[in-house]
Amino acid sequence: MDNTHDIVIIGAGLTGLTTAFALHQKNRNVTILESDNKIGGQIQSHHVNGFIFEGGPNTGVIKYPEVMDLFHSLNDKCELEVAKESAKKRLIWKGNKFHVLPSGPISAITTPLFTTYDKLRILTEPFRAKGNNPNESIAELTKRRLGSSYLNYAVDPFLAGVYAANPMTLPTRYALPKLYELEQDYGSFILGAIKKARQPKTDRDKTATKEVFSTRGGLSNLTKAMADKIGSDNIILKTKSISITPSADGFVIDYTVNGEQHQIKCNKVVTTCGAYSLPTMLPFVDKGIMETITNLKYAPVIQVGVGISDTKGVCHNAFGGLVPSKEKRDVLGILFPSDCFAQRAPERGAAYAFFIGGMRHPEMVDLSDEEIKQLVINDLHSMMKYPATIQPDEINIYRHDKAIPQYESSTGNRLKSISLLQQTYPGLVIAGNLRDGIGMGDRIKQAYDIAASM
Ligand SMILES: Cc1cc2nc3c(=O)[nH]c(=O)nc-3n(C[C@H](O)[C@H](O)[C@H](O)COP(=O)(O)OP(=O)(O)OC[C@H]3O[C@@H](n4cnc5c(N)ncnc54)[C@H](O)[C@@H]3O)c2cc1C
Repeated sequence: MDNTHDIVIIGAGLTGLTTAFALHQKNRNVTILESDNKIGGQIQSHHVNGFIFEGGPNTGVIKYPEVMDLFHSLNDKCELEVAKESAKKRLIWKGNKFHVLPSGPISAITTPLFTTYDKLRILTEPFRAKGNNPNESIAELTKRRLGSSYLNYAVDPFLAGVYAANPMTLPTRYALPKLYELEQDYGSFILGAIKKARQPKTDRDKTATKEVFSTRGGLSNLTKAMADKIGSDNIILKTKSISITPSADGFVIDYTVNGEQHQIKCNKVVTTCGAYSLPTMLPFVDKGIMETITNLKYAPVIQVGVGISDTKGVCHNAFGGLVPSKEKRDVLGILFPSDCFAQRAPERGAAYAFFIGGMRHPEMVDLSDEEIKQLVINDLHSMMKYPATIQPDEINIYRHDKAIPQYESSTGNRLKSISLLQQTYPGLVIAGNLRDGIGMGDRIKQAYDIAASM
């Protein structure tokens, strides 16, 4: 035995680091085991010749007070950066150009994105019957309540942006639980949204502003800040072949570092890695139960950071543009981080993030770097309307085989199995983005909830 630890956390991504940091704040003894040689997990910011490109997430939403709690606790180490006003402008591709997604009553009437029939039909949305299929997909629900054009030109591109998903395969209650509850609790999206907005909020609730955030200088500054507070002695990198065994008074964990075998004991263990890592990590779990957890599918995604040093005045001033499946283009969407955050590109330049693949085009992640670069250059001219004389100065490709978990109809059984295992083996917590939401806000909230429960 090397030593005995109180709480061991597997994974130094956003979930693992936030859980460890929240526990560290409560003076708990925490150790993180991370298989990679660096912290951050999917969060990796790259500084390249005056550009900042994110390899994973670009932005989160301040959807829970815990997001603000985290940044307040770290304000001596990193700075929350709330997106500029331009982030409120969202674009959707239709025909041969981007159109602004309506944000008010006038633009909702004049937008060419939706049909006149659906625009009129939406007035009767509060009177439509409530759905009774708990596994109804987001596509079916949207068609039923709002109409096909809202599905095709609002919900489908939104899901491509968030889940890299196909709206036909995601049940609303797992993928967009708040939307599901609006219909179930209030009978209508419109009435539900109005009633919820009118509900009294505590001062703490009000800190969840729903604004878009990053961290000044890139999101890696957030994970680095937490790692600094937790202390490098408490984060063990390059830990391979982790195997956890329940014992009379907690857990025994075997792992190797650089081929050398280690064994530690702990009272509690929190896993935050993907479902695919769990079978070797939890070998004591019945195969049938494990199968209900590991059958989680992940969308593969390629993110391409594109930098232009001098845009010669080309400017979009928006959060980014999403592409509906119907439009049959290669990219899922393009984000414009330098329109939303400071210092993401040289003064006269711009930084973009192109997304390729997802459940829509999983075959595209097999394209070579050269093919990806050509695709991005073509779209820079055809979609972003850059003249042929302007070519990108930087193209950086970040590949993710297992980017975004898909909360399909198997989710219910997965949650049951996790809950059963946690009850059977007190002190074991199976966390991470295999449950409770995929966004950074969800990850932070889950981490604080776990820390509070320990
Ligand atoms: C391309 C992309 C774009 C995204 N965009 C957004 C966005 O704009 N907004 C948003 O809110 N979210 C976005 N997300 C989702 C968001 O990044 C994730 O939900 C979040 O970062 C996941 O954090 P995590 O700690 O749960 O998992 P991870 O970041 O995956 O961390 C898990 C950690 O566990 C480690 N690990 C895995 N297996 C083992 C093992 N066997 N032993 C030890 N360690 C192990 C991994 O190395 C990793 O460090 C995006 C994700 C991707 C991939």
